Amino acid sequence: MIARVIVDVPSRATDRPFDYGIPDAMSGWVEVGSRVGVPFAGRVLQGFVIAIVPFAEVDSKKLKPIAELLDHLPPLSPDLVELAQWISDKYCCALTTALQAMIPSALKGKADSVVTLAEEAEASDGRLIEVADEPWLHYVRQSGGEVRLALLQERFPGAAASIKAAIQRGTLEERVSIRDRLAVRKVLTVFPPENPAEAEASIAAASSRAAKQQEVARYMLEHREPIPLAALAQALSMTTGTIRGAEEKGWILIRETVQQRDPYAGRGFRRTEPLSLTEGQQAVYDELAEALDNESSRVFLLHGVTGSGKTEVYLQAIERCLKDERQAIVLVPEIALTPQMVERFKGRFGDSVAVMHSRLSSGERYDEWRKIREGRAQVTVGARSAVFAPFKRIGLIIIDEEHESSYKQEESPKYHARDVAVWRARQHNALVVLGSATPSLESFVAASASRGQEADGNASPSVKRGATLLPMPDRVGGRPLPKVHLIDMRDELKGGNRSMFSRQLHEALLLRLERGEQSVLLLNRRGYSTFVMCRSCGYTAQCPHCDISLTYHQKSKALRCHYCGHAEQAPEVCPSCESEHIRFFGTGTQRVEEELAKLFPGIRVIRMDVDTTTEKGSHEKWLTQFGNREADVLLGTQMVAKGLDFPYVTLVGVIAADTSLHLPDFRAAEKTFQLLTQVAGRAGRHELPGEVVVQTYNPEHYAIVSSQHHDYSSFVQEELKHRRFMAYPPFCRLILVTLSHEQLALLISEGEKLASTLRDLARAAGVKSSDDGDGSRFIDILGPVASPIPRMKDRYRFQCMIKYRGNVGASDLLKQAISLLSGTNGQPPVTMSVDVDPQVIL
Ligand code: ADP
Ligand code: ZN
Ligand code: ZN
Repeated sequence: MIARVIVDVPSRATDRPFDYGIPDAMSGWVEVGSRVGVPFAGRVLQGFVIAIVPFAEVDSKKLKPIAELLDHLPPLSPDLVELAQWISDKYCCALTTALQAMIPSALKGKADSVVTLAEEAEASDGRLIEVADEPWLHYVRQSGGEVRLALLQERFPGAAASIKAAIQRGTLEERVSIRDRLAVRKVLTVFPPENPAEAEASIAAASSRAAKQQEVARYMLEHREPIPLAALAQALSMTTGTIRGAEEKGWILIRETVQQRDPYAGRGFRRTEPLSLTEGQQAVYDELAEALDNESSRVFLLHGVTGSGKTEVYLQAIERCLKDERQAIVLVPEIALTPQMVERFKGRFGDSVAVMHSRLSSGERYDEWRKIREGRAQVTVGARSAVFAPFKRIGLIIIDEEHESSYKQEESPKYHARDVAVWRARQHNALVVLGSATPSLESFVAASASRGQEADGNASPSVKRGATLLPMPDRVGGRPLPKVHLIDMRDELKGGNRSMFSRQLHEALLLRLERGEQSVLLLNRRGYSTFVMCRSCGYTAQCPHCDISLTYHQKSKALRCHYCGHAEQAPEVCPSCESEHIRFFGTGTQRVEEELAKLFPGIRVIRMDVDTTTEKGSHEKWLTQFGNREADVLLGTQMVAKGLDFPYVTLVGVIAADTSLHLPDFRAAEKTFQLLTQVAGRAGRHELPGEVVVQTYNPEHYAIVSSQHHDYSSFVQEELKHRRFMAYPPFCRLILVTLSHEQLALLISEGEKLASTLRDLARAAGVKSSDDGDGSRFIDILGPVASPIPRMKDRYRFQCMIKYRGNVGASDLLKQAISLLSGTNGQPPVTMSVDVDPQVIL
């Protein structure tokens, strides 16, 4: 047999399979999805096997053999390899780029496996009977029960199938040594007392001077689960010394244990039972359950207002899916993947939940991934890339907050997790559930079109159909949506108020402080970095290599470029006019924090923005503190808007609603509406009623007015009118091509060539070049024009926008055009980067 291998060189010239022979020692081990080392242009390169074909199908007899097999069990399954092919076609990226995106980064090197004979298998011998006659088993026994897998593989070339089966069954345990896996760390762990009743009596009898130690002991009695000392100290905001005090009193135990790398281990998730569903939840659940039982691949859009109980529906649907021995993937925006969120899933499904997000170390990610691949996890909760979780039988893929733009990856492969999920679900006959209080227009139109609902009377052919809309318009327990007050900041100024707080927001904050309730303050700003400006002449510091302002870093007193990393000393006087009035403007949130301290002396504020959340675990730390009511105000950017659920939050203030409204992006209104609706949903989710104060300079804008009334449908009607008129998605689709090069003249001429080649190809394919507004197919090539950031890292940037509707093969046309412009080396003379369905147009 011959292996077809995609080598890991992401260039157009190498973006095709190369054939290699499979040496005898590897036969049976090399499969579709295996990672191998192959000789290529005088080197050994890493690659993936994407097909295995009989020798006869290949003409050349002078095949080179595969040099090495990098892991003994293939990291990818055939269905993932197929998915990668689709991603490569659809998003115009090299196949290797798509394949690499699917495996954890810890797996990039060579992994060395050791197999051990499972102890219980030795004892019971039940599982060993099946392999008792295998010569390799004797060999493992002779070697003391432990042997390198590579060695077994070499000595017993014909035994691949039975060894692999033994690993699958657990008769053999495979351990993979990846560098940081080997370092076993010991940690101090706190355990509950051995005799709880005795301890309880002793605690009750203790004097009030030991109040802190009592708190520790009570915590452990209540939670029961062992917890690392450091984690407990953090959870209770105490020193480890205080906790040791409780040990001295005999109320708890502290022991050294080997640290598990499960980042959520020892956290003591309290088990939760399914709630009895409300009428609205039940109706949705029934529909999902039926579709699950039918094993049909369908897409549902769960449009539920904030607090309608979407998560409980997810949980029960997952339970149904697990009963059928199928697995579930839950995607959550990175920023919303808080411990609170994880707890809801771990609380219901315990250790069968694997968690995947970018704040884990690469070793942790790898462990979670293996848990999935080895069948120890049935549910994964994770950010975007968890859509590639290597489950074998997927029944359900849930995408919470499906409208979030973070589901689109901004670097290659520039895939959208929602579209990948739909495709993957089709492979597995699984359901996709898209959940949101403010669905993206794309999803909403797709769902309404199929229902024949009047979102858009004559939905254009480009609008994807076939999603089913499941509405949940009411909050659980009939709790009202919070009242939203719009404050016109122009009136405030006219009335002589120059502060960033309106009188109403000021009073509302004061009231919360008096009542001991909490507030969330949102500063809606995208460019929340600090910059330098001269007050005398208006000079701003620019990067010498990029057309972008430099950012001021307080710690290092340096100016840095976010794009290329250029750094320089912050000037003392203006380099342009030598004035001393050069000022560093703090981040918006910093300034709000200062203002709060001035207006409300003693106020306790937690500020969450890019500056305060860079450290690992800081995001969680702030939220835990806020949840423990150690602060009155949680102040932040977008990150405070998502998914938080705190019972004492009764006020949400939005400092400036419209800073995102006028961005030159066709989704600006949609993003603003979504953000305001999400943040308003943080208030009054429990017994205490909530109130929202939104400050704006555009109180009559439909995005703001609709959010005031929690009125998604009138927002959508208005927004769809604009989109149709301007022919923007969902009435067409977009592909953004960015060209860059050091030489401006070459860049412009190549840009012109690309546009005209594309136009010629489209004409030859018989596709109309402009939109008649009748919903028929067309392809329109706009540009080239200078990019919004016209120079980056000393390279000029131009862009072409391809707008199209219907099945016009836009990606194919683009690929053809690029290859026509390419030289003999397979590359075009300027760099071309392709973004299909771009989410950020800026
Ligand atoms: P959403 O995700 O739709 O904003 P959540 O899932 O966070 O809403 O639910 C809001 C609140 O209602 C949560 O505190 C949740 O525990 C509670 N809840 C959900 N379903 C039920 C139910 N059937 N009975 C009682 N409480 C529920
Ligand atoms: Zn100046
Ligand atoms: Zn720069």
